Amino acid sequence: MSKDLPNSNVVDFPKRDYVRFYDDFVECDFCGQLTRGRVYDGAQQIECGACGSAFFEFYTESGGINFEADNGESE
Ligand SMILES: [Zn+2]
Repeated sequence: MSKDLPNSNVVDFPKRDYVRFYDDFVECDFCGQLTRGRVYDGAQQIECGACGSAFFEFYTESGGINFEADNGESE
């Protein structure tokens, strides 16, 4: 009789790198937990560290945040 351990069923989740967005904890609008927000590598949204809901999204046109504010163009 073989005795199989369920190790083969363990899913190895790919590790995702993220940075914390806020220095201080903020309250998540969805779950009410305090989180500093997570921005995963390559993502354009801030996720709650507790429930994973995205409570802020970056809206960028070129895939990067444009910090150029003074380029001589005026409205
Ligand atoms: Zn949350």
